[in-house]
Amino acid sequence: AWQLSRSTTPRHTTAHPANSPDIDEFYLLPHIVRPGETIASTGFSRSTGGKGANQAYAAGRAGANVVLDAQVGADGADVVKLIASGGVDVSRVRVIDGEVTGRAIIQRAADGENSIVLHPGANFAPSNGEVDLSGYTHLLLQNEIPLDDTLAYLRAAGKAGIKTVYNPSPMPSREVLAAFPWDCLSYLIVNEGELSDILAAFDDTPLDTKLSVKDRAIAQMHALHGAKGFAKTVAIVTTIGPEGVLVFDVKGAHPEVAYSPAAKARKVVDTTGAGDTFAGYFVAMLMDKGDDAPIADLIPTCLQACAITVENAGALESIPARADVEARLA
Ligand code: ADP
Repeated sequence: AWQLSRSTTPRHTTAHPANSPDIDEFYLLPHIVRPGETIASTGFSRSTGGKGANQAYAAGRAGANVVLDAQVGADGADVVKLIASGGVDVSRVRVIDGEVTGRAIIQRAADGENSIVLHPGANFAPSNGEVDLSGYTHLLLQNEIPLDDTLAYLRAAGKAGIKTVYNPSPMPSREVLAAFPWDCLSYLIVNEGELSDILAAFDDTPLDTKLSVKDRAIAQMHALHGAKGFAKTVAIVTTIGPEGVLVFDVKGAHPEVAYSPAAKARKVVDTTGAGDTFAGYFVAMLMDKGDDAPIADLIPTCLQACAITVENAGALESIPARADVEARLA
């Protein structure tokens, strides 16, 4: 399971292998089920998730020409239909015989505690081994498919000069991070926790806990940029939740970290999907403005899209269309 994006006009194409759709099943419970216990749930809901699906959908809602390269099971027809409704080309989504679509079984207890079982299903079924990036201009990767597939796409894109964006979630191991082909990557998108995890693979200096989240992230972005084994050509984008985003654009002569505060949400209902909205909109804006534009030019639209996402419940379902984002920016 992964996603790609392709199109007839190569400049306006995103590819994103990595990850894929999931079906998230939420069970409301008085408490998290104990070993050996059987209890009835007091509520149930089901939604489509998976970072690849969410990010492809966000890019599609942002108006990008995006192709999702992913794998689902025979039970994935509704999921694929929903993703396509966001303007995503799903012609590269493969249905894997004998597999189920990736699943998350989420127990949500009355006290707010969560407990999650993940079944990767078709996301981890062997792929067809084909890495065809001809006609694509951008590649957006996450980490919810086999690492070898992600790396194969990243290396192929790096070789072909395709701009790559990587949102490493879930986080690979330190060993993988230390040996990662960073030079194939153009943009790294992380939240502040993920930034710490990546830096720890290069630099074991303890965190300065007295610093604010923002100042610590700025220091860590500088440290990562300068770390031996990381590529200086990678732009680093760190989302810091309700505080907004930090951007280390490496295009200028003296790259610095720039801070943009989050767009104000009218109400905060559910922050699920905010990070995926950012990543999908980021690629779409990159395709819109061109890779030579300062990253700062892309950010206001991304942040406004995230603010609308947190105002609405759900992940994929809460990602706004570009027109609604533009209306707020006007
Ligand atoms: P992740 O879900 O990957 O941890 P973040 O929590 O950093 O990502 O959120 C991504 C972006 O969503 C942030 O950069 C910010 O712009 C926006 N965002 C998150 N929480 C809020 C909030 N409460 N109000 C407004 N914007 C928010």
